[in-house]
Amino acid sequence: MPKKSQAIETPRGKRERTFKGLAAAPGIAIGKAYVRFGRHIEVQEYVVAKTKIRGELKRLDAAVNVARRQITSLQERAAGMRGTTGDELVFLFDAYLAMLDDSRLVRGARSIIEEECINAEAAVQREFTALAKRFEAMKDAYIAARLDDIREVASRLIGILVRSPANEPPKTPKGGIIVAEQLSPADMAQIDPESVSAVAAALGGTEGHTAIMARALGLPAVLGAADLLVGVEQSQQIIVDGYSGKIIVNPTPATIKRFEKRQAEKQKRTRALDSLRFEPAQSRDGTIIQLMANVELPVEMENVKQSGAEGVGLLRSEFMFMNRDDIPSEDEQVAILEQIVSVMGMQSVTIRTLDIGGEKPAPALLTEIDEAAVSALGLRGIRLSLANPDTLRTQFRAILRVGVKRNVRILLPMVTTPGEVKRAKKILNEAADELMAEGIALPDPLPPVGVMIEVPGAALTADSLARASDFFAIGSNDLTMYTLAVDRANEHVAHLFNTLHPAVLRLIQFTTQAALRARIPVSICGEIAGDPRYTALLIGLGLHDLSMTASNIPIIKKRIMELDTLAATQRTQQIMEQTDSGRIAMMIDDFNTLA
Ligand code: PEP
Ligand code: MG
Repeated sequence: MPKKSQAIETPRGKRERTFKGLAAAPGIAIGKAYVRFGRHIEVQEYVVAKTKIRGELKRLDAAVNVARRQITSLQERAAGMRGTTGDELVFLFDAYLAMLDDSRLVRGARSIIEEECINAEAAVQREFTALAKRFEAMKDAYIAARLDDIREVASRLIGILVRSPANEPPKTPKGGIIVAEQLSPADMAQIDPESVSAVAAALGGTEGHTAIMARALGLPAVLGAADLLVGVEQSQQIIVDGYSGKIIVNPTPATIKRFEKRQAEKQKRTRALDSLRFEPAQSRDGTIIQLMANVELPVEMENVKQSGAEGVGLLRSEFMFMNRDDIPSEDEQVAILEQIVSVMGMQSVTIRTLDIGGEKPAPALLTEIDEAAVSALGLRGIRLSLANPDTLRTQFRAILRVGVKRNVRILLPMVTTPGEVKRAKKILNEAADELMAEGIALPDPLPPVGVMIEVPGAALTADSLARASDFFAIGSNDLTMYTLAVDRANEHVAHLFNTLHPAVLRLIQFTTQAALRARIPVSICGEIAGDPRYTALLIGLGLHDLSMTASNIPIIKKRIMELDTLAATQRTQQIMEQTDSGRIAMMIDDFNTLA
């Protein structure tokens, strides 16, 4: 569990401090911290119709609840810290929580909404300004400190209320390292990997989409480093070590030298794999394994081409819906998909329909739906799409238009029943009929429709899902999360997220065998597919189609070229008889060192 920090004196009297978090994306970066706690937000004021005042008050209440959850989570982290800093933070967060309960700030904002009929964020802003004026007039140091606390709570509330995706993300100075309380997948989608060199955050786990996007963008990342809340100042020099999960603040010259050396060695090792790019992924005994790329953002496409990927095994289409208040039009979607699909030529591209929900919100789709309804167990993935059939139809139309004379497949996320597949296929057929009636060209035949197997119930009924669909893609990230009841994006339970748990492996095996029996293609596209430690196990389970972050393709290919698939299959059979994940890990590692 990330916790301890140590301090040493440098010759110049600056303290070097090491913070421990979770290694979320590999790589080492040395640069200046660009701290993004509580960023300034412009508040727009507008009139709200009398009939909508209740809705506006509900928005304020919902924001107060979100703020309460955020602060409680920060407080839990602070409680785990050693020493007085942790105690002080716990105390401070108590004060923030009290302010959310029934303070002048919240009460005042409510009255302003009711009496002046304005939007909630502007009401919070107005009430804060009024309080600030009164407090400043008192010229008392204690009161001034309280005002800072109220400012913190007010900006948090405004930030939640505004969460305006349309706002330009703050620019990070070139080479800067973003340090934040929390980074959402939507924040990651706005990062320019050319100017940012790494990210570090106090919250977040290693398997959430924030971590996945950091890996996809090639940015070293350390998440879940609780002490960061108090430990880093703007523009301080820091090192992010995404291999060990450490953040070093104010490094000494000797530390910098040591990390520069490690950085150079790692880069050399990565370059050594470049020569494999156009080699087939063929095992020692001649088995060909298909290696595909997972794509979350169009900026990754150059890297995908460089990696030698044979196609895109998973295009997470959520990015198109993030950081905006409206739903992208069909033409817009066509233009964005075209950027990705055209790079791959006639290679296969598997486009997953929207997987919004869980940690990935899309404001435009959620306006009518309560936040709780789109939790990880709520209206996520295909459920949200089926609840918004027009949005799904538009997405299908865009995919069909892009798929003409191309090799495109459609993938449905979070499926649990054949009925969901049938309903989605019906909407797809309607979209195709509409396009035909409009004289717009269609792919012939229509693209295959597959399902993600990422819910235990889907894995256990893989036989019936295989009859309803054309292919499977195993999503081991969510399959692990839902099987073990471990939130993949939560740093508190990151140590419990274990894809080697026999329950998860059995579900992967069960699914693979069901697909092989039904003679439909099956791939795996969770993070396990991009880790060479597990390559032999996956091949041994019968998976010959792996999709992963593009930059991992060369190392996986190297592992495949060293492997004998018969030996891998025999070892996997022994592994599948085990009931203890520790023993399974040992048997994998033993096999990897020998073969
Ligand atoms: C998965 O769940 O394994 C998967 C590939 O989908 P995502 O990570 O986008 O949820
Ligand atoms: Mg998933």
